[in-house]
Amino acid sequence: MRAAVCRGPEEALVIEDLDLRAPESREVRVRLQASGICHSDVHLIQGEWGDLDKPVVAGHEGVGIVDAVGELATRAVAGDRVIVSLIASCGTCRACARGWLHLCQGRPKYAPRLRRPNGDEVACGFDSATFAEATVVHESQVVPIGDAVPHDCAGLLACAVITGVGSVWNSARVKPGESVVVIGAGGVGLNAVQGAALVGAETVVAVDLVEGKLTAAREFGATHVVDGSGDGDTVEAVRDITDGADHVLVTVGSRAAILQGLDMLGPRGTLAAVGIPPRDEAELPLTMRSAFGGERRLMGVGMGSTNLMVDVPRLIHLYEQGRLKLDELVTQTYPLEGINDGIAAMMDGRALRNVLVY
Ligand SMILES: [Zn+2]
Ligand SMILES: [Zn+2]
Repeated sequence: MRAAVCRGPEEALVIEDLDLRAPESREVRVRLQASGICHSDVHLIQGEWGDLDKPVVAGHEGVGIVDAVGELATRAVAGDRVIVSLIASCGTCRACARGWLHLCQGRPKYAPRLRRPNGDEVACGFDSATFAEATVVHESQVVPIGDAVPHDCAGLLACAVITGVGSVWNSARVKPGESVVVIGAGGVGLNAVQGAALVGAETVVAVDLVEGKLTAAREFGATHVVDGSGDGDTVEAVRDITDGADHVLVTVGSRAAILQGLDMLGPRGTLAAVGIPPRDEAELPLTMRSAFGGERRLMGVGMGSTNLMVDVPRLIHLYEQGRLKLDELVTQTYPLEGINDGIAAMMDGRALRNVLVY
């Protein structure tokens, strides 16, 4: 099986032939059709999530066909088309019992899954390793999805879409008529924008530095866009539109954006930090008043507080009804061998989402 292997933080990924072991217990093996390329993958292969003590295969936005299952797996059977997510859950810990599967405290343990022909182990990034022709994951990481969504965008349901839409629906719990500001209109931010539009937010403001992303944000339902790269005062521009926002969702892991977001909040406004940068040692210079004045709230958001088996079928129904945009998220597709080009094109900031199609 071919996979794109990261051998070290400064090196281009290399396509290697690896051995993938059979699924055990509650695991399933998925013959992958496609995988999105997410910024978190780049953080991983650059060593920002932790030192790379062995080669690693990244990727966590997969879609494919189940072709083998462990003896205890019940969620999917061979032949099912599924998405592959990094959200793995035991189902029985205190967090899972409370419905917070994305915060599982007893994530499944995996015996080594990938090896080189000489026996050396290769790590599975995010326990998903979808930059490969196949992967073995815990059954809690997959959701059967049928055939409604094409290969190139289906994998995005595993991260970008659930994180963006879920941050609005599940985490911030935006209500009809409220005002929402989304800072960063990339793969996650655009989904926060369309999530806000779908729940009937009155004002949806997208802030980005790239004109093309602001154009996309309008197509995804933003009522206003603010170009943060201009000479004007971004915070003032947003405050003029919202008179103080009910919700600010910061989808770029930047301290400056979080501080700007705080200044955009109105009374009882909530700032949601969607995705925390790895190895973040940046301190936020907060005062008691800037953090909590006006009854404001600060919250973190992980994976859009998603319950995969609830949220993914719901999103697919909205897509089938023509109410959720997925195809429009894909900027360009690449074969597995083109992965380094796909990553480079993402890093220059213009792509919404680049996708590997196998
Ligand atoms: Zn991701
Ligand atoms: Zn759990």
